[in-house]
Amino acid sequence: MELSKIKGLGEKTIQYLNQLNIYDSDDLIRNYPYRFNVYAKRSINDDRYYDNFVSDGVVESPAVINFFRGKMNRITFRCNIQNKIIRVVIFNRAFLKNKIVPGSIVTLTGKYDPKKEELVASNIKFGALKNGVEIEPVYHLNKKITGKQMNNYVNSALSYVEVLNNIPESLREKYNFMNEYDALKIINNPVDEASLKTALKTLKYEELFTYMKNVRLLKLKNEVHNPCYKKNVDLDKVNDFINCLPFKLTLDQKKVTEKMLSEISNDTLMNRLLQGDVGTGKTIVAFILAYALKTGNYQTSFMAPTEVLARQHYKNAQSLFKDTDFEIGLLTGKMTVKEKKEVYEKIKNGQIDMLIGTHALISEKVLWKNLGLVITDEQHRFGVNQRTILKNKSNYPEVLMMSATPIPRTYALTIYGDTDVSSIKTKPEGRLPVITKVVKEEDMKDVLEGVYSALKKGNQAYVIAPMIEESEDTDYTNVFDLKRKFEIAFKNYNVGIMHGKMNAEEKDSVMNSYRLGKIDILISTTVIEVGVDVKNASVIVIFDADRFGLSTLHQLRGRVGRNSIQSYCYLISNKDKERLKIMEKENDGYKISEADFKLRGQGDLFGNRQSGALSFKLSDVKKDYDLLVKVRDDVNELFDK
Ligand code: ADP
Ligand code: MG
Repeated sequence: MELSKIKGLGEKTIQYLNQLNIYDSDDLIRNYPYRFNVYAKRSINDDRYYDNFVSDGVVESPAVINFFRGKMNRITFRCNIQNKIIRVVIFNRAFLKNKIVPGSIVTLTGKYDPKKEELVASNIKFGALKNGVEIEPVYHLNKKITGKQMNNYVNSALSYVEVLNNIPESLREKYNFMNEYDALKIINNPVDEASLKTALKTLKYEELFTYMKNVRLLKLKNEVHNPCYKKNVDLDKVNDFINCLPFKLTLDQKKVTEKMLSEISNDTLMNRLLQGDVGTGKTIVAFILAYALKTGNYQTSFMAPTEVLARQHYKNAQSLFKDTDFEIGLLTGKMTVKEKKEVYEKIKNGQIDMLIGTHALISEKVLWKNLGLVITDEQHRFGVNQRTILKNKSNYPEVLMMSATPIPRTYALTIYGDTDVSSIKTKPEGRLPVITKVVKEEDMKDVLEGVYSALKKGNQAYVIAPMIEESEDTDYTNVFDLKRKFEIAFKNYNVGIMHGKMNAEEKDSVMNSYRLGKIDILISTTVIEVGVDVKNASVIVIFDADRFGLSTLHQLRGRVGRNSIQSYCYLISNKDKERLKIMEKENDGYKISEADFKLRGQGDLFGNRQSGALSFKLSDVKKDYDLLVKVRDDVNELFDK
């Protein structure tokens, strides 16, 4: 239901809700509180000042109302709290006046001042305090909406909803869950901790259940044999293309390519995750497959998680396929409406064979003539739903997901629902392991010498900082500051800068200059973390390295060592030495992630939440892994019946 149809939501409010990614009533009721404040009943006879005083009491006198400064108002009344008569003040709640009558029982929350014997209440509820606690849901908010308002909006949206039945009755009974609707009511209006717990458990289960059910449905679809799923491709043409590549495929690349070519030619649909550490050369395998589909007149969608990466793939593909009739298009959110329209048109009439882009590819406006293959690069960066949507756009596309982030087999089984997994284990021949050094800030001179010697040989450098600009809360290094310093230290070289606040064209132009060697040192935030491929770069310096997870550091380090030259990675930090030292010894992404896991009890296997990586609203893939497995078994049992 549209937000505008909900009582009490005006145009402005809807705008503010949109800013919080809430676009309809479903978004609103699923806007779960992320935390709960629990206030216990306080004794008024403590004679203490309380910021969060909570108690119930009996109204002693009728409410008196005062208006001031035009719109403001104040209600006051006397109240008997634990046999002490105090004054209660409530601001801007004039509409409550007639409900506050002598003899009625109220529960009050607010600031209590024992000297004045006065309670300034921020909240009043009618009825006694149950269970001795008052629980307040806390929501993600922006400055325009208060928690109280959000709570009202959610409750208002809930009043339009009827029963929800996403969890089958049998499972609801098995685990003693509530109805999902009741659970939603409770988390937004909690009265005691026990029922709140059950409500949260119910909703978490519902979330994972819905997800696993979809995974299972997808899998069913993939098990179906259907002659329509056969893609006829011209293998001779594909082999000609492979033979004309500027390099020879590695053994692993060849193996997975052959495997996938045979899979797309049979009568089931491919659903494959291609894993391979950074720099093992996954992209070319994907391109070969896309080209194969082209020879059978099918189109390919190729989705990358960032604009920078999408543009890089686009450029690479253009140069790789320049002597063929393989047409490549680019679609990103930052393109103009006119540019996008042109692309939509070419997709519809089949002029574009492979469309590379960001999640703009998911737009409903992209209508394919004959989509045959869906590729996602850096799969772990995408939310789970996006993948499904893209896949559902055409009836029978083959699916290839790629990821450098190691996902343990058990996770892969659950999350990807028995997706087939292939790996590329070895890097192209002649690659030397990147030499990594953990360096203290005071030994910066060694680092600068390392950078200088690379530049002198005509190579390039990356310098990474965690922050964009100076910030009051941290003293972490920022890119602007570093740029000034490196410009002074490297007077005869060009220093460029890149960060997430730059727009797409700016980033693109910096990346181009860097690729062309016009920039020698690129100072950047982690926007270059995934996928960026500039062969001539041979040094990467990472400031405040302790701020990053080891898998992120490994990804960043993967930006160098993409050629036969010896590359170096400097990790600058005065902290967390033991963890960072792992990077000096290990060059293998899987082992690094394992070590990180052991050391911290958790690795950053799935990246951070902000990146949308496999993120659920209530559940956490890591913390709720056992529940996820349970849900998977429940779903399987249900389907088997
Ligand atoms: P990733 O697996 O991290 O995505 P890329 O696909 O970006 O790695 O490949 C890394 C680099 O290696 C690219 O510059 C690519 O052109 C190059 N490359 C890929 N395969 C080979 C090969 N068989 N021989 C030499 N270079 C290769
Ligand atoms: Mg890649």
